Amino acid sequence: MEILIVGGGVCGLALAHGLAPAHDVTVLEASPGPRGGGYMIDFFGPGVAAAGRLGVLGEMRARSRVFEGVRYVDAADREHGRIEVAPLIDALGSDYFSILRPQVELALLAALPDAVDLRYSARVREVHPGARPGERPRAVLESGEELIADLVVGCDGVRSRVRAAISPAHADVVPMGYRASSFLFEDPQIAAELGDWAMLTDSLERTAGLYACDDRSAALLLMERVDPAATARPTPDADELRARFSGLHPLADRALEHAPAQYYDDLVAQSSAPAWSRGGVTLAGDAAHAVSLLAGQGTSLAIAGAEALAVSLRHAGPHRDAGLAEYERRMRPVAERAQRSGRRSAGTFISRSPAERLVHRAGRRLLSAGPLTRLIARRLVV
Ligand SMILES: Cc1cc2nc3c(=O)[nH]c(=O)nc-3n(C[C@H](O)[C@H](O)[C@H](O)COP(=O)(O)OP(=O)(O)OC[C@H]3O[C@@H](n4cnc5c(N)ncnc54)[C@H](O)[C@@H]3O)c2cc1C
Repeated sequence: MEILIVGGGVCGLALAHGLAPAHDVTVLEASPGPRGGGYMIDFFGPGVAAAGRLGVLGEMRARSRVFEGVRYVDAADREHGRIEVAPLIDALGSDYFSILRPQVELALLAALPDAVDLRYSARVREVHPGARPGERPRAVLESGEELIADLVVGCDGVRSRVRAAISPAHADVVPMGYRASSFLFEDPQIAAELGDWAMLTDSLERTAGLYACDDRSAALLLMERVDPAATARPTPDADELRARFSGLHPLADRALEHAPAQYYDDLVAQSSAPAWSRGGVTLAGDAAHAVSLLAGQGTSLAIAGAEALAVSLRHAGPHRDAGLAEYERRMRPVAERAQRSGRRSAGTFISRSPAERLVHRAGRRLLSAGPLTRLIARRLVV
């Protein structure tokens, strides 16, 4: 089949691995090259085995790192609990590691089959599913170029345009009541002070997370509670970011000085669609089932979903629609389970009041007991 993949992020590239060379694969990516911006991802769950089957797990592991854990601190750097990673590693072994999001893309690119036609600066403006049986779907680029294929796969992220073509009523994201901003920066001194521990502030209404990526650079993740009804993507503004988040912790204040003009900035959100396929167009990754960073498995599920789609199409042979139905039947329950878990944890991510903070601190003390972390780790992966 001729297959167009809209979006060359983690999901699109993983899918290209799964489909080539059996199919004629073109990946259309809006950005001019691999996207550099990023944050650290905890990689575990169904994506680990899927990455192994796609033959990319070794490349990912080579680019990974393992932290000691997370320390919760207040504005005066007093520690209010820590969660160690060791029990997770005991439970999951090498099936758990941390990796920067851009490094996942680079790992997938390093071994991308030559047969894949990867086109950067190729933003898709609209997608038209086939209106009648046998009619092929079309994608129209911003440049006006029109491409026709046997299958178009929307791997274009949580704010997917392709989802809008399949299910217009579900074009919008499902907000979780938080906004997240994140950037990487060079500062060997901050990286050395952090060492192998990530840090999260134990503050009210907003929080700063900080971790060293290597011995030269670190990343700052800032989150705050926002109107849970808002869906529009916020606009990054470094000065405003510094004003909103200053005073949470001395290290976070120093990190804020590095805020660039452009950085990751979006609502923490999920996505959903009542059906993932229509007229030869289907959805994968965050476009189909974003779970949000609160569930912590978006990348894992993006890779697992891409592999499930490739396998289902392989098994279906010439019966494309049977393959798409089988893919959704396999993947939807897995994704919906992770989405429910993300929604359950949404209320507890940032404390709203001093009383709520006391409850969260008590919960962390319980969590820091190794056996409980191991139990939770096992439940996360089954
Ligand atoms: C702060 C933060 C922390 C996170 N932490 C974790 C974690 O710990 N663990 C975890 O597993 N997940 C985590 N996630 C989630 C994870 O990043 C995503 O779930 C995952 O990247 C989904 O991959 P994707 O390829 O489906 O979508 P994306 O990564 O969004 O890729 C979509 C691609 O499509 C391209 N595109 C969009 N529109 C078009 C268009 N019209 N035409 C062409 N190309 C287009 C974009 O440029 C992009 O390259 C986190 C997310 C955030 C924001």
